[in-house]
Amino acid sequence: MQPSAEEQDRPPLPAVEYMEQPVASTIEDIAERYQAVREVVARTYLREGDEPWIVAYSGGKDSTLLLQLVWEVLGELPAEQRRRPIFIVSNDTLVESPLVIGHLKRSLEIIGGAAQEAGFPVSIKLTQPYINQTFWVNLIGRGYIPPTRNFRWCTDRMKIQPTDELINRLVRRHKKAVLLIGTRRSESTSRRRNMAKHGVQADGTNPHSSIRGCRVFAPLADLTDEDVWLILMQRAAPWGGSHRQLITLYRNAGGGECPLVLTKEDAPSCGTTSPRFGCWTCTVVQKDRSMRGLIASGASDDREQEKLELLADFREWLIALREDDSKRSTVRRNGRIKLRADGTPTLGPFRLETRREILRRLEALGEEIGEALISEGEKEYIEEIWRRDQVGEDARNSLKKLLKIEIEA
Ligand code: SF4
Repeated sequence: MQPSAEEQDRPPLPAVEYMEQPVASTIEDIAERYQAVREVVARTYLREGDEPWIVAYSGGKDSTLLLQLVWEVLGELPAEQRRRPIFIVSNDTLVESPLVIGHLKRSLEIIGGAAQEAGFPVSIKLTQPYINQTFWVNLIGRGYIPPTRNFRWCTDRMKIQPTDELINRLVRRHKKAVLLIGTRRSESTSRRRNMAKHGVQADGTNPHSSIRGCRVFAPLADLTDEDVWLILMQRAAPWGGSHRQLITLYRNAGGGECPLVLTKEDAPSCGTTSPRFGCWTCTVVQKDRSMRGLIASGASDDREQEKLELLADFREWLIALREDDSKRSTVRRNGRIKLRADGTPTLGPFRLETRREILRRLEALGEEIGEALISEGEKEYIEEIWRRDQVGEDARNSLKKLLKIEIEA
């Protein structure tokens, strides 16, 4: 497909430094590949059945292109053939990097308005972790240490569970559904391996690994990073405007993304692809290059810059806290002590006083930036957990005292 006259007239965007692959394809090659993918999407859409399409949209480059494809296909169809409901599913961990969640929410608003205007059967769903599983409830309430590569308790609780639950609900309600994902083989070796394991193909659907009645469709599977960027640069966002904001966000943050994670197999990429967008609290990587990149770019106003710096400092303080053994208890929340081979106890959750200190500093930070970083509901939930943990701790202390008295007696 040749670019339209309007597309050819559009001034080219500045070169993007983070495109690592050499520019080997011409614009015509990429336009042809895009057209081929679009035809596959159109053919799949028009197949028998009217089960809904669930489009996983994180606001990142791949899912933006995925949604663009679906949108363009819908736009070419007469209204009576647009028979499938389309659900755009996004996730907010409640601790997302502020610029990234800002972009996601703004784009969802524009997309929703444009879909309504165009008469597309589109609904937008933004999932969030359940209150008992938010970042702060686990960290401050239960005393979990900030996530590490080996103890990454967050992805499943904050991303996979809420999204999985929604997809399950939609599949139950409609009997079947197709889940569209923006994953590509060239993203990483593990991605390629997972896609091969599940038989994911760009030109058709395959069964979801755990949700019965749900099929998965990954039409971008064979596109490269270069393809995705060039297509986004050359084509306007069909819901209005350009992708300039998205491109700028990536450029300033220095690259990758923490995508909408839908399965445990995808989880390893969450928080580890460096640099990446993710939660501002993410301690899986030691150095958050994306947040520091956003700060260094000076792309936002002074107030926003200051806010990002304060958040980044808090994240670093959490890492220091995790590495300070004196802040942690050797007794687990169930009262047990785990011993190493040499008989010394392993470290358990943060001590109650450490958890209280984190909450105090988080609230102070919220006041400083003029934005609540933790909700009242989360605080109530945390209080309840602390109350129970305190009861356990008091009971253990009384027992210790009692045993001592008996021994002394
Ligand atoms: S970005 Fe980091 S903190 Fe957020 S879910 Fe992923 S691994 Fe966890």
